Amino acid sequence: MSPGQHLELEKRIAVEAVTQAARLCQAVRAEMARSNAWESLEKDDRSPVTVADFGSQALICHYVNRVFPRDPIVGEEDSAALQASANASRLAQVTQYVRRFFPQATTEEICHWIDIGKGTIAGRFWTLDPIDGTKGFLRNDQYAIALALIEDGKVQLGVLGCPALPVRLDEPDGPTGVIFVAVRGGGAFAAPLDASIDEAAYVPIHVVQPTQRNEWRFVESVEAAHGNPMLQETVAQAVGFTRPPLRMDSQVKYGAVARGDAALYLRLPSPGQPDYREKIWDHAAGALIVEEAGGCVTDVYGYPLNFAAGYRMKTNRGVVASNGVLHLAVIEALRKQ
Ligand code: AMP
Ligand code: MG
Repeated sequence: MSPGQHLELEKRIAVEAVTQAARLCQAVRAEMARSNAWESLEKDDRSPVTVADFGSQALICHYVNRVFPRDPIVGEEDSAALQASANASRLAQVTQYVRRFFPQATTEEICHWIDIGKGTIAGRFWTLDPIDGTKGFLRNDQYAIALALIEDGKVQLGVLGCPALPVRLDEPDGPTGVIFVAVRGGGAFAAPLDASIDEAAYVPIHVVQPTQRNEWRFVESVEAAHGNPMLQETVAQAVGFTRPPLRMDSQVKYGAVARGDAALYLRLPSPGQPDYREKIWDHAAGALIVEEAGGCVTDVYGYPLNFAAGYRMKTNRGVVASNGVLHLAVIEALRKQ
């Protein structure tokens, strides 16, 4: 990992928390695939949430809060739906999974840990998506556990656990499980998900360079409704992409740009939801990892992402993440649309 002590303790805790949460998610996916309990709940916005989302949030909030009790955590989930009597069996399952890590934990404590994630934005705070890409998780595709530390509106630390990501994209049947870590000013690193933080397994990662431009790919969501696939294709072609897009769920897309699998990630506003504003936990960790790998991340107008304006990025529209070299051409192509 990078030299220097800056945010060293925060980084260690974040990596440990995300690694353990990833183990919980992998266990849920492996063990519950054919059981009823696997069915997800539906939140008010009709997005799915599973036993693993709650378990992951409980673990990560507990790991972070016991070392940094004064730091607010702005997380995606809360325990209200889980505590409804109709969901008692799900709550029991969440408890069972979290107890594999903390055998003494009670159901009440676990709900409290989940609700530590109901913090609000402050000068220094964490933001957490316990499972980003829940639809991918349910489909047996990609998902990510995303944790970031924000100070004065700037992401200072980003950790992305990607349990289903091949260690090498060109070996889809090879080993899977990657963790990405970046501290501002310290570069971006990746390691197999089961590596210890002290291991030499962490290697610096870099965005793809401008050689072999014809080989470049761009990446977009699997869920067409989370972007504008037609316009994404048009813009990508306008800046010279000829190959079909990679499609991946979650912030794994940022990891793909950061390690050079793709040169560009386009997330243009969905025509079906023109008023949608992106949520900070869907972007904070990934954005820093791309920037520290040498890339550039802005909204579709070229403005920096604003992580201090609320849990929704009210002042931004969509996201463009690139290897940097391409960025201005993409923003220019978007301006002409
Ligand atoms: P992805 O896996 O990249 O497609 O993104 C998953 C995330 O998309 C979820 O965490 C949601 O918060 C977010 N999402 C839901 N609806 C939209 C939308 N209309 N536009 C952009 N993102 C959305
Ligand atoms: Mg998400």
